Amino acid sequence: MKRCVFIQAHVCIEHRSEICICSFRLMRKLRGLVRQFPVNYSLNTRASKMEVMADDYETETQDILKPLVFRLHENAPAIVREVLLERGWTEFDQKEQDDTDWNLYWRNSPFRMTDHHSIKPWQRLNHYPEAVRITRKDYLARNLKRMKGAYGSALYEFSPVAFIMPNDYVKFIAEYSKERQSVGRRPSYWICKPVDLSRGRGILIFQDIKDLVYDCTVIVQKYISNPLLISGYKLDLRLYVCVTSFCPLTIYTYEEGLVRFATEKFDLGSLDNVYAHLTNTSINKYGASYKKYKEGIGCGCKWTFSKFRSYLRIFGVDDLLLWQKINNIVILTLLAVTPLPVASNCFELFGFDILIDDKFKPWLLEVNYNPALCLDCSIDDTVKRRLLHDIVELLNYKEIDTLRQNEMAGSKAVRRRVPWRTAGPSTPEEAPGLLTCRKVATSNSASPVQPAPKAARGSIHKVASLTKKTVRAHPRKTLTSQLREKMNRPKTSSQAKNEDKNKLPAVHSPCSSAQLNHWLPTPDFRNCKISTHPYFLSDKDQRPIRRVGDFVLIFPFNEAALQASRDGTDVKSIIKEINKLVSKQLLSKQQNTKKRVGYLTSV
Ligand code: ADP
Repeated sequence: MKRCVFIQAHVCIEHRSEICICSFRLMRKLRGLVRQFPVNYSLNTRASKMEVMADDYETETQDILKPLVFRLHENAPAIVREVLLERGWTEFDQKEQDDTDWNLYWRNSPFRMTDHHSIKPWQRLNHYPEAVRITRKDYLARNLKRMKGAYGSALYEFSPVAFIMPNDYVKFIAEYSKERQSVGRRPSYWICKPVDLSRGRGILIFQDIKDLVYDCTVIVQKYISNPLLISGYKLDLRLYVCVTSFCPLTIYTYEEGLVRFATEKFDLGSLDNVYAHLTNTSINKYGASYKKYKEGIGCGCKWTFSKFRSYLRIFGVDDLLLWQKINNIVILTLLAVTPLPVASNCFELFGFDILIDDKFKPWLLEVNYNPALCLDCSIDDTVKRRLLHDIVELLNYKEIDTLRQNEMAGSKAVRRRVPWRTAGPSTPEEAPGLLTCRKVATSNSASPVQPAPKAARGSIHKVASLTKKTVRAHPRKTLTSQLREKMNRPKTSSQAKNEDKNKLPAVHSPCSSAQLNHWLPTPDFRNCKISTHPYFLSDKDQRPIRRVGDFVLIFPFNEAALQASRDGTDVKSIIKEINKLVSKQLLSKQQNTKKRVGYLTSV
């Protein structure tokens, strides 16, 4: 069928010098829009008003790959924008674009439940509802205490004993007095932290109760007074953990991360010296020694995990065992808040603060909501930039997600407002997880394609205004960069037809590197059926993708754990599996004990 239409594309270009830079991309973009509208075209980039002649009505809409679109709430970290622009994404323009015309919404505060309910298959939100259950210090303490009661303190002894004040005042006094009265026992040190403050604000360390003062809800926690020291400096680990789903529970830890040092030597004789006792960068960067060269540490106050691992290996420390213990802490902590309300297409990036003591026992200090993504030094830049790139990869956007405008147009009459279920048979009506290519292709061909002109104008405007930034960047070969390349390369319809629907880049396939096998003791997901198609499952085997960049799947870690996390989380069975895992780890530790030499404590 042939017909003629006219389209007027109003191109907003503020600076004439940008016209040359963007004209090529603009042409390509318009070519894409023209195919989408669908028309033939003649373009004159020197004019701000373009007339496009319509012709070929049979152009295949699947060929059109628009840039992915991100939406940032105010105060979202600048690096998120930078990374997404590097990857060829464009920024959502509220005035120009339809409300649902975006792929990723990033904000520092929780989303409203209506945001969760109206989520579209092509969208992701960076917060899960009620994740705050483990990120507020008092909630975390309460949840871990409950787990200790239910599953035994042996498994949950990774968190220092804690009291929430003023509620637990009597209990605290009882514990404090008991310690004081026991002969030959050195009284503990305590740390008092406001429950809803971060970055080391309002923290107090004390030994004598007369020094304890507070004027808000605080948590009083046993102070780990024998931390691992490097050259006399205290350190802790900022571990990045990404939960791509709470139901079924799916947890990734990031192999790279930050070691954060105090900038003055540890000294129990000066409890009020924050530069010696707190490892927050937000505090230490203002210390007198921050910029100075510190023996054994260097300048600044950060190392990468890679450097830390090499350091441990030099001293014969089994870093693998340490990391296994840390992974167990992460899983057990997240189990304490599972299940959270079911919500689809969200993810949560947590910052776990782990302190290691001089016996190499890792302790969980707290879990951070919105771990800091500011760039204080070059190490931050290296770790956090890559982390964000890998998060975007983990979000597993598919080519189909770039077709959101077509889908929006097609689905306007039948708006989807269904959080996908995790159990039961999957029907098109009740499974608004990611659409398969086939589904969208069908919906496109079944309904006349009438994308909102408003949205189209917005896209053109964005491409024009962002081209400058985008051409400067040198993105790595990632799914989104490949999508972008593809978008810029017109395809023939026969090419499109011949493409395999599972043509994801290698990075999305499960990887079985030797390193990964260390992290996954029994990585076997072959015999499990999952009825829905959440974004974090691989197309190939419908199992959680085992590795994406430096993200490594730590839960589910075997078939039994996978089964127990589906259809409502069976915490009891999971704990049983973890107990088995811990026993195995202990056994291998005993076997290796003779080989290891604990030099590090004396360093
Ligand atoms: P904030 O949210 O204010 O950063 P944290 O719980 O992370 O609070 O504590 C800040 C710092 O204090 C940690 O990075 C760590 O160096 C130190 N710290 C906190 N709790 C303990 C503890 N129980 N034992 C030893 N050091 C601690």
